[in-house]
Parts: sequence; structure tokens; C-alpha cells
Amino acid sequence: MAATLVFRLHDRGPELLREVLLERGWEEYDEGEQEEEDWNLYWRGSAFHSSQYHNLLPWQRLNHHPKTAGITRKDFLARNLRRMRVASGSALYDFSPTGFILPSDYTRFLAEYNQLHLTSGESVYWICKPVDLSRGRGIFIFKDIKDLVYDCSVIVQRYISDPLLISGYKFDLRIYVCVKSFHPLTVYIHQEGLVRFATEKYNLSSLHNLYAHLTNTSINKFGPFYKAEKERVGPGCKWTLSKFRHFLNSQEVSQLVFWQRINNIVTLTLLTIAPTVPPCPNCVELFGFDILIDVRLKPWLLEVNYSPALTLDCQTDITVKKGLISDLVDLMNYTSIDSLRERAYLKHRHKQPCFHATQSSRVPIPALSKFKGPKFKKKRSGIQSSQTQILPLLKPLLQSEKINQRQSRQYALVADCQRRLPPVDLDKTNAGRGRIINTSAARNQNSQSLHLILSPHSRTNVSVAKRQTCPALAPWLIDDRSLHVSEVTNHDEAETEAEMELSGGTDVSAQIPDIPQRELGFGSSAVSWKLPSIYSGSQRPVTIPLKGTRAVKEQHVPPLRVGGFIRTFPFNTATLKASQHKLDVKVIIQELHKLTAHLAPGQSDKTKQRREEHTDGAEDFESLLWGPKDPPLLSQCFRPT
Ligand code: ADP
Repeated sequence: MAATLVFRLHDRGPELLREVLLERGWEEYDEGEQEEEDWNLYWRGSAFHSSQYHNLLPWQRLNHHPKTAGITRKDFLARNLRRMRVASGSALYDFSPTGFILPSDYTRFLAEYNQLHLTSGESVYWICKPVDLSRGRGIFIFKDIKDLVYDCSVIVQRYISDPLLISGYKFDLRIYVCVKSFHPLTVYIHQEGLVRFATEKYNLSSLHNLYAHLTNTSINKFGPFYKAEKERVGPGCKWTLSKFRHFLNSQEVSQLVFWQRINNIVTLTLLTIAPTVPPCPNCVELFGFDILIDVRLKPWLLEVNYSPALTLDCQTDITVKKGLISDLVDLMNYTSIDSLRERAYLKHRHKQPCFHATQSSRVPIPALSKFKGPKFKKKRSGIQSSQTQILPLLKPLLQSEKINQRQSRQYALVADCQRRLPPVDLDKTNAGRGRIINTSAARNQNSQSLHLILSPHSRTNVSVAKRQTCPALAPWLIDDRSLHVSEVTNHDEAETEAEMELSGGTDVSAQIPDIPQRELGFGSSAVSWKLPSIYSGSQRPVTIPLKGTRAVKEQHVPPLRVGGFIRTFPFNTATLKASQHKLDVKVIIQELHKLTAHLAPGQSDKTKQRREEHTDGAEDFESLLWGPKDPPLLSQCFRPT
């Protein structure tokens, strides 16, 4: 019998996710009825507390990776892109409008302003945005520096004043990007997305008219022309990306390079933070990338949203977002590991607390067994209360052992599940799951057993407890606020507590320390032992032989497509290798350069020759080009026409 999967929503939203998961037979977490940790997926619009990452059980997933604010807060994004531009010296990083964070960059801004106004005169415009607000709040456009007035930390950016227009209306693209893993970097972009229109015609002589200059739905849905039938755009303010493709076709735009440029923007932006995001295989993240296109068809990155809106304002939203969330659940690939939750809880409820399994561990049982059952305390009494009972007694012991109480429970629970539960037949549990396309059949699926789903490091409770894999610092010793603050980011959804806390005008960027991963307790060995392979089950990666040294015999390639999600990274053998261990950003940038050159029309003879080499069997696995309708294989795009 298939196990029931449980989802937990913070603040009871988003409704769309609830609807999709209930339709798929999931159950919603009920804090009155269920145990504190009795869930498979926990979804929050705002950031998770660092302790929630430390205490994940094998079947639990979170919808945010830790420490991604480096791209999702406007000022951090600007700084990171600037750093990469300088470090890589790559023209590829030229996709973000020049920006200055004020007040700190005021002098630099003034110098740039003066220089541009001397050389370009009237035609330079600027846009000012508060760094910690979203949905168009507090934004204004100006030409003359005397109109620049701000009372909080802001980013002033070159305003892209020559956007591509459709029948006179400005628009931007909302691209949905799923980072399935940062280690190794594994990125999918959804084929469907949104085109978001301004609802009044673009006009540089009315800079104050936000309905003409901003494309946020949160603003335009209150505009006087929102419902009106607008030339070509129609009523409302949204199109699907499919409709936009159709539009590009009608304009006879050569699309390969166009889409690949957006693709590059996504990868290059993620590369700015990928080396510093702590490994957390149980996390997945859906980012919303906002892209503006100028008249020369150059895409510009405006911002990256941490919690893209999942509200349904119109039929276009329903079409796009419902499919998106459904595909996201398929991409998360819930499999047999997740059913362990139910089985572990059932067993423990009727037998004994999980602590018994630590008998042979380094945490002495007599001390722990006094506290029978706090693991399964309901939320009403709360984890805090169970910790207040236990911690005073255990803390010296646990600290000296560099182990904490919840971790010891997790070791025990995982080891116990592993020891007692029979192997799980992945084929059965995956029956009827998502639409997944691999380049070749998955191997050895039938032979999967539980010890393969859990990390090979966690064979027995004894070996688990003996491993020195605990974080260097126990969670209660960590300044959680630092992580929490750093996660304040662009939200499409309703204002979060953290946002409200910070919208009082303080510049928090200086308060965010650069916390070494070790101190956060995210060292890869510390977490990896207890987490499942994210590729287990029907989405098992394709195993390919790699040319080269004997040591690297084979590598795993994630599926190239899951529903509408297209794998965009890694996209070839070189990028796969460059992301396997320590991320080799230089190699990845080189590969992106090459790929873009291969796709470009009117290539030089030298490039053509390289392209032929490229298609000459050098690649061991295929990738699709995200963007065009019926995405073609990259190798097909390289073929001479
Ligand atoms: P928010 O988080 O408030 O939505 P954005 O950076 O996405 O902030 O900006 C809101 C809107 O302003 C965008 O959707 C776009 O229409 C417009 N915009 C932002 N930056 C620029 C820019 N540099 N050039 C032209 N338009 C911009």
C-alpha cells in the first residue's frame, strides 16, 4: 500500500500548492493531530531557521536552500554580480544594468552620473528601488539627480529606457528556475512562464506613471486599464511564455541565441553563490528570475525572487502555475524514502522512543531514557519545551561529545528505520509518477534497497554514532539570527515578518557576517550521511561512461526533462565534471562561452570547425536547449543548416 505523504505549509499558504498536493493524494499536516516532525515537505514563503536545516530527517524536504540571499536581495545580487564581472573578466556577466547601492556607493554613483550626463546628455535615466522591498513598492524613475530622494537603503540602477515593446506596452519575463541541488549544481528551467505587461503605453515623458513603466502585476491590477482590451496584449496584464514564443515567431526572430542568453543569465547568476551555499540535499528551491528584453533583444536580469508568487489572478496564472507546481513535485521525486516517515512514526507510537537505538552509540542510554518520548511531543508542548526539560542535563555531555540531543535522536531514528524496515520496492512506489524523460533507461532499479537510498555511510546505528560527522557547533551555540537576517529577500508573496522587521530603513547588509560553513554546521559530511539520494527512484540519473582517467569511470547525469522542467545545468560532460566536486567556475564560464558561440548564426570558420568537433561524439550525454517550443537537443542546434 502506498504511504501517505504529508505537506506542511507555513501560514496556511500557498493555496495552489495545497490544491495540487491534495489532488495528488497528499495529506495536510495538522499541528493539533500530528507530531512536530511528522511531515515530508515543509513549504515557507520566508526563510527557514538554521536549526530547521540541522534537524532534517531523511524523508523531510524544505523548499529553500540555506544562504541564497546573495542573489535574492537586490543589493547582494548587485555586489555579487559586480564581483564576478571583475573576477571572471567575462563579457558574459554584462547582463545586469549598472547599479549602485546607496548610501554606501554614493560617490561612485555621482562620478558615473556626471560622466554619463556629460557624454549622453538627456538620454540617461535611472531607477531607484528599496533593497528590501518587493512588488514594485517604493520604486521611482528619475533623470535628474535632484529628484533622487531616499530614506532607506536603495539600489539605483541604469534604467533600460529602450525596452522591447509589444504594441507600445512594456513587459518583462518571469522565468521559473528550480535548483534541485547546489552540490552538485543541478538546475532546471520551466518551459512555461509569464510575460507581465505594463497596462499603459510606454512613454518616457511621463516617468511618474508607474502603470507605463513597471510591469509588476501587484501594481498593474489596480490600474484603470487592467481589464480593458489592449491592442494585441488583450485584457489583463499577462501572457504565457508560449504565447510570447508565438509572437517571436511572427516577428521572425532567430530564437536559439535569444533563449540561450537567458539560460546563461540563470547559470551565471547561480554561480555567484553556488560555492558558498551549504550542501543540503533535502532542499529544493523555486526561484523567479525577472528578465527585461531591450529593443536589440538583449535580455537583462532585473532581480531574482525568493518566493515567486503562486497566487492565481487570472486564467494565465492557472495555466502556468498549476503545471509548474505539479512538475515541481515530480521533480522533487518523492519515493520510498519518504514513506519511511509514516512507518517510523507508526512503529514508534506503539513501541518505544527512538532513543533505544543509541544503546551502542556514544550517547549513554541511561541519561536519555529518562526522557522517553519528547521526539513525539505535539507542537502544543513544542520542541522548545522538550528541550528545556532535557538540555540542562544533557548539554554538558552532548557538548563534550560534539553532538546534540536532536541529532542523536536523528541518528537513532534513521539507524533504527534502516535496521528494522524491509527493503522497499522502488518500482511499486513510483508507479504512475511524473513525466520524466531520460536519455537512457535507468539501471538497477529493482535492486534498490533501503541502504542504497540512505547514504552508504549510515549502515548501522553503531557506525553512525561512531562517525565523527556532527557539525562542529551545536545549533544552540549558533547565532541563528545571522542566518535568518541574511535570508531577507525579494518576495512576490505577501510581506513576510522579516521583511516588515527590516523595512524600517536600516541597512542590514553590514550586519550580515560571512559565516564559515563549518560554523553553521553544514559541512558536507555532517549532513550527507542522513540524507537520501535525491536521484533515487524513477528519476534515477543516467549513468554514463566518461572518457579520461580510469579513476572517473562513470558519472551520474540527472534526467534531461521532468514535465515542463528542462535540465539546463549541467549541460555537457565538461560542466558535469566541473560541478562534481569543487565547483570549477572558470571551466563552466568557458563552456557557456563555447555553447553560445556554437548557437550563434554567421559563425566564423574556426567556430564551425569547433562545432564539428563538438558533435563528433565528444559528448556522452545529451541536453535540451531550454526556451524554444519543443526544445531541441543541443546537438541538433549545432548541426549546420
Ligand atoms: P520589485 O522587487 O519591487 O518587483 P524589480 O527590480 O523587479 O523590483 O522592479 C520592478 C519593475 O520595475 C520591473 O518589473 C520592471 O518593470 C521595472 N524595472 C526594474 N528595474 C528596471 C531597469 N533597470 N530598467 C527598466 N525597468 C526596470
